Amino acid sequence: MARKKLIAANWKMYKNPEQSKQFFTDFLPMVQGHDRDEIVVCPPYVNLHAALEAAKGSQVAIGAQDVYWKEEGAFTGEISSTMLVAVGCTHVIIGHSERRQYFGETDDSVNLKLKAALEHGLTPIVCVGEVLEEREAGLTEDVLRRQCVRAFNALSARKAAKLVIAYEPVWAIGTGKTATPQMASDAHVIIRAEAAKAFGDDFAAALRILYGGSVKPDNAHALMAEDEIDGALVGGASLDPKSFTAIVKY
Ligand code: PEP
Repeated sequence: MARKKLIAANWKMYKNPEQSKQFFTDFLPMVQGHDRDEIVVCPPYVNLHAALEAAKGSQVAIGAQDVYWKEEGAFTGEISSTMLVAVGCTHVIIGHSERRQYFGETDDSVNLKLKAALEHGLTPIVCVGEVLEEREAGLTEDVLRRQCVRAFNALSARKAAKLVIAYEPVWAIGTGKTATPQMASDAHVIIRAEAAKAFGDDFAAALRILYGGSVKPDNAHALMAEDEIDGALVGGASLDPKSFTAIVKY
């Protein structure tokens, strides 16, 4: 089954609204008419408005980098799925390794966030991946299976229809070290098998699994050439309109 690739930008904690606007002024003309792949840009919350305004009328979708699972309430500093939908977001990154590493994200909170995002019609991009010590100890498969099983808990194929997974080996994020296309493919096969167990073979065959971790213009083509790789989640190289365009056009 042909899966349309999704190329997503994770801007992390970079750019202000003015710089976000400038990005789109430069980026949109370069990707005009490009519909081979789906394109999503995930800026910091405070830039969502500027990004949504700037991307209006284009094929570029806007997503957030995190979401809280409650609808509303006394949860200082948090943002709900309803709020993201109300401003026009269509996508959300969940469980990024930086959230897991620095902000106490767990497999269980990923599951709660995933369920909330799906309930509100957002397309969730759930990040999974092993740290270097786990890879070196031969635990990659165990880690990926555990992260998937817990993320998918209490979800059905129908509810999870919009799910996207990003395989992001933590040792490759922001380090300049990229997993080889073969390493990424092998991990994607493990993830797809877990999705098949949870949601069935048809679901798994249609599931998009992105690769993330030092994707750059010069390695994007080789990665995207793999059948198992259905797109990219791009951090550093997505901040510059030219390099992100080169990745989108791999
Ligand atoms: C990311 O932030 O998800 C990421 C993959 O970062 P980088 O491309 O900079 O490694």
